[in-house]
Amino acid sequence: MDCGLIGRKLSHSFSPKIHSLLGDYTYRLIPLEPEEVGEFLKKGEFHGLNVTIPYKKTVMEYCAELTPAARRIGSVNTILRRPDGTLLGDNTDYNGFLYQLNATGAQVAGKKALVLGSGGASLTVRTVLAELGAREIVVISRTGENNYHNLGRHADAQIIVNATPVGMYPKNGESLIDLSQFPHCEAVFDLIYNPAKTQLLLQAQRRGLIWANGLGMLVAQAKVASERFQGKELPDSLVAQIIRRLERETHNILLIGMPGCGKTTIGQALAQKLGRPLADVDEKIVAEAGCSIPEIFAKEGEEGFRVREHRALAEIAKQSGLIISAGGGIVTRPENRDPMEENSVVVWLRRDIHKLPTDGRPVSQSVPLEELYRRRAPLYEAAAQVTVDNNGTVEQTVDEIIKRVME
Ligand code: NAP
Repeated sequence: MDCGLIGRKLSHSFSPKIHSLLGDYTYRLIPLEPEEVGEFLKKGEFHGLNVTIPYKKTVMEYCAELTPAARRIGSVNTILRRPDGTLLGDNTDYNGFLYQLNATGAQVAGKKALVLGSGGASLTVRTVLAELGAREIVVISRTGENNYHNLGRHADAQIIVNATPVGMYPKNGESLIDLSQFPHCEAVFDLIYNPAKTQLLLQAQRRGLIWANGLGMLVAQAKVASERFQGKELPDSLVAQIIRRLERETHNILLIGMPGCGKTTIGQALAQKLGRPLADVDEKIVAEAGCSIPEIFAKEGEEGFRVREHRALAEIAKQSGLIISAGGGIVTRPENRDPMEENSVVVWLRRDIHKLPTDGRPVSQSVPLEELYRRRAPLYEAAAQVTVDNNGTVEQTVDEIIKRVME
């Protein structure tokens, strides 16, 4: 069975991986230029297709029939070739967004929702929200009557959905709105899944709101599309399993801890065992500065070093699937929180104080080690999702990290 994804730019797609976990069929990435789409749909050899930007509307005219969801939304993301050769157009993004909402337990009925963006995904989101009984749905568009300059009109919004690409890799850290403008907000959804937590979702998480990224939507829409392709139902539990697997594979493991706690050694061993690249924040700083860390401290002071450190961290941590070793002072700067949290599981590598060296480390030489440990330990604890003691062998520590992070 030959299936695939058509769109214009497809290099970063997770879809082949997801479909490989959903069934035993070929799933290819098929990049097409606009003038090629019609010809491909008429003559291409395929059993089923997914459709992405910018062709979700284009393909509709080639479908002999549309499912009710595709008709209601006005776009098609799944095409099935029927036995008579004609094409059936469906929209499983609908099922995907419904899953994303339901998985969090968010209550939509009677609520006021803001949808950022007026493109194809926004149409799907609005259809689902309306069908779940939202009291009012307002589209915020750069050029519309409701836009980013008069958001104050909608300070009573309870649900906010980002259906724009703003905040998506590689432009991590951008957000169209400041959530503090929405004191009644209960739940925030972002259709973006890279990074795992956009700036908008980090704001939501810190406020203790319900939130979810777009990975659930992506996997759940693929599961329904796969059911259409294979002509059989698949267990719902597959969706959560695949999400967890993709999260495990794409999250970075970021090691923090006191200078000399073993981040480099453990990082190297962990990278080797998991077959992942190792990125060392200090190494990147040194490579970019063209001199050693003590020399940077001597020339630019700690402030100059911290600016360099933030820049290096932000560049490294927005990537996926890395082992990252960070400098001991990374937790001292609030601006490092977002890059640390957006795509990484942060592990505090805790080592007994009497085992920590002090040589060659500017900060630990200028402040007594006990004092530095006393100041930093609460910061490491607050920043880390996982704490692992590194007082035994390298292998024991590595195995413990893998067990705790991958569980
Ligand atoms: P689209 O048709 O290109 O629409 C995106 C909309 O976002 C535009 O219509 C525009 O609305 C707004 N926008 C674009 N650039 C902007 C900017 N720089 N500043 C502010 N607003 C901007 O794309 P789409 O298909 O709707 O997809 C939107 C996002 O959802 C993408 O990030 C896509 O990857 C994601 N998505 C995820 C899934 C999933 O399964 N998780 C599924 C579909 C889509 P205005 O012109 O009205 O401002």
